[in-house]
Amino acid sequence: MTDTLLLDKRQRAMLAEMGVRVWSPESEAAVMDAPALAPAPPQGLTPASALATQALVQVAGDAQATRHAPMTPVAPVELAPPLLIQRPAGIDQMDWPALQRTVSTCQACALCGTRQNTVFGVGAPADEAQVPQVDWLIVGETPGEEEDRQGEPFVGQAGLLLDNMLGAMQLSRTGAKSPQGGGVYITNVLKCRPPGNRNPKPEEVAQCVSYLERQVALLQPKMILAMGRFAVQALLRDSVPELEGTPYGKLRGRVHRYQNVPVVVTYHPAYVLRNLPEKAKVWADLCLAMAHIQGA
Ligand code: URA
Repeated sequence: MTDTLLLDKRQRAMLAEMGVRVWSPESEAAVMDAPALAPAPPQGLTPASALATQALVQVAGDAQATRHAPMTPVAPVELAPPLLIQRPAGIDQMDWPALQRTVSTCQACALCGTRQNTVFGVGAPADEAQVPQVDWLIVGETPGEEEDRQGEPFVGQAGLLLDNMLGAMQLSRTGAKSPQGGGVYITNVLKCRPPGNRNPKPEEVAQCVSYLERQVALLQPKMILAMGRFAVQALLRDSVPELEGTPYGKLRGRVHRYQNVPVVVTYHPAYVLRNLPEKAKVWADLCLAMAHIQGA
């Protein structure tokens, strides 16, 4: 063992395994059994002054390191700043503006590193600091590419279909609640887009779902439409024991509950676009939800 760098053989082997090459005056040969990428000892440096520099640590494969003469300083490797994954505290106490602000700066999972925009939701107009007045909450899964770009949910093809469905119910995404009812809010389980539109990871849902929880608590809708598998999983995980392993389509046709708000399960509009005959089933789900609200 050499104590020049206070590294033992095993530590040096681990560094070598990670591609980090270490040079020290006494032990160059002993440390690196790979072909000599490490520079020769800097000329003019005695072992003692070399010791004061502690070490030359280079990333193997950095062509610059081999090109440079020994006395040329190695250019610093530019590293992206590390993501600081932090889960905000007190979400369950936040008011609407605080919740919106918190989502817009959220760093609770790695999606904050790839998103263009957070997608909090859209719905009935509300005065500043007020919660939108709505009867309906529509919960989708995750923002897609266009939603990420615009910061608004359901603005792509699936969104067009959703708008048509709302139109058929005499509702619209930004229409105000009237004395006859109405008022819609649209959001997703995840507030950030998973890259490449992949499925959300369980840890992403686990970090993000408290925002949805708080949205429901503040909005107090009369009905939640859960669109798609991940919406159903997020909303019914505590109330449907057979959820795991049950195709979510089997949960259609009855009224569930989330935070004591009625929930109707339906197919995701993106799925319906690929399976147009399923439109009739979605219409049946919407009729069930409307009948429930009217009877309530
Ligand atoms: N699909 C969703 O679930 N949400 C969106 O916002 C867009 C597509």
